Amino acid sequence: MRRAIYPATFDPITNGHIDIAARAAKLFDELIVGVYDRPMKSLLFSIEERLAMSREALAHLGNVEVKSYSGLTVNFAKEQGAGYIVRGLRALSDFEWELQLSLANHQLEPDIDTVCLMASQEYSFLSSSILREIALNGGSIKDMAPAGVVEALLQKAKNDQDGSNRIKIVSVRD
Ligand code: ADP
Repeated sequence: MRRAIYPATFDPITNGHIDIAARAAKLFDELIVGVYDRPMKSLLFSIEERLAMSREALAHLGNVEVKSYSGLTVNFAKEQGAGYIVRGLRALSDFEWELQLSLANHQLEPDIDTVCLMASQEYSFLSSSILREIALNGGSIKDMAPAGVVEALLQKAKNDQDGSNRIKIVSVRD
């Protein structure tokens, strides 16, 4: 039984994340999508919101489960009985960070391997931060995220009359 985790902040989940999860679900018997509870960056959505949107977006994948986690990713992988960590690579700039992460995780837990999938061309520009930025400034995001996420972002934009969410996220890269 090959089990992997796909950990990320998912603030919020995008079509790029869904593409990686769907492709990883074909490679492994079971995929556990881990929504990281408290990253060291400002968030737009709560853990409950990020979990609910991710569950809805991935419900069509039979061997995928979505759970929240805190603490070290390798500990989450071990708790879940997973031997692999799935990550997505968009551009050269992702590579350096993902290499550092995978080397650090390997140092902590040599039995757990990181598997990187190349982003599909149509999503290789897409990040949660770009999605938030476009949505909060009134741009169309319908081809970038599932309907539930589009709806939730429209709601955030509506409730953001004073622009505080835009200020909160403006310097955050992901
Ligand atoms: P993190 O807080 O870990 O950066 P993200 O939600 O930003 O969480 O992304 C997590 C993982 O998903 C990373 O491996 C990232 O490269 C990958 N990813 C994000 N967006 C895309 C995309 N559009 N296509 C492929 N992989 C992606």
